[in-house]
Amino acid sequence: MLKTRIFPEHNYKAIHLNGKTLRIALDPKKPIGDLEYPEFYDIKVTSYCEGECPWCYQNSVKTAKHDNSIIQKFISFFDGMTDNQKPFQIAFGGGEPTTHPLFLDLMLKCYDMGIVPNYTTNGMWSSHSQEVIDKIIKVTKEYCGGVAVSTHPHLKNHWERATELYLENDIFTNLHIIIGNRKSVDDFLEVYEKYKGRVKYFVLLPLTAQGRATEAHVDWDYFQSNIEGSPADIAFGANFHPYLTKDPSRFKVSLYAPEIMSKYLDLETMHVYKSSFSTEPLNI
Ligand code: SF4
Repeated sequence: MLKTRIFPEHNYKAIHLNGKTLRIALDPKKPIGDLEYPEFYDIKVTSYCEGECPWCYQNSVKTAKHDNSIIQKFISFFDGMTDNQKPFQIAFGGGEPTTHPLFLDLMLKCYDMGIVPNYTTNGMWSSHSQEVIDKIIKVTKEYCGGVAVSTHPHLKNHWERATELYLENDIFTNLHIIIGNRKSVDDFLEVYEKYKGRVKYFVLLPLTAQGRATEAHVDWDYFQSNIEGSPADIAFGANFHPYLTKDPSRFKVSLYAPEIMSKYLDLETMHVYKSSFSTEPLNI
């Protein structure tokens, strides 16, 4: 379905078709401005996760309780928006969003509102019953734009099994990889060799000192020297912006100022942030 959004006051027009967004600066001599109504929302569904990653920047835990009013909250937030104000897409995350009992209903509601749902997962759902697996795959295949699978090394059995299930079902699949020290770069190169040509994008995210992660060294030099050229299937998360702008010709990527196209909504608190890494809520 073709959708367009236009905000002349932010010098912005965008067209969304088949999962791809084309952005146009109405006055090409000026930059696109910070969007009050972003084209993309990240939404936190739950703080619950059994992944126990020591570097979890969300500090997600398996003692967290699910909020059972997320559907009503979701509707109250987006229902009053015009089609021009609604985002093209939403990425649901957490915690682990698939653990929420209302997760699949939430994706269906999102789809019904004309917004493409996507989600990020650690893949642990793939170890559940066949019934759970079948339901998740069915709804994902029919209604979702795509999925991002986090490739945490200690959860390898889970995320690899989930990735295979998505690929077998022709679901648009990206892999998320956290880049920090040399070992993480070596792990990425192994993942890259194995899944190159099979998944759409390898989305790299720099380790960030937030939540349970206390140390955030990114060995950018080691990373750069181990990647040949600028592979079209490697994408960088917004927090890589400071690294990429050091040498803008090294990787061929569009360097928008981070966070002008998206916002982050915590469905538990209903606070909106510039991104999931911000600690100060916006006044919305
Ligand atoms: S899988 Fe993701 S949400 Fe869960 S503990 Fe690890 S980093 Fe946190």
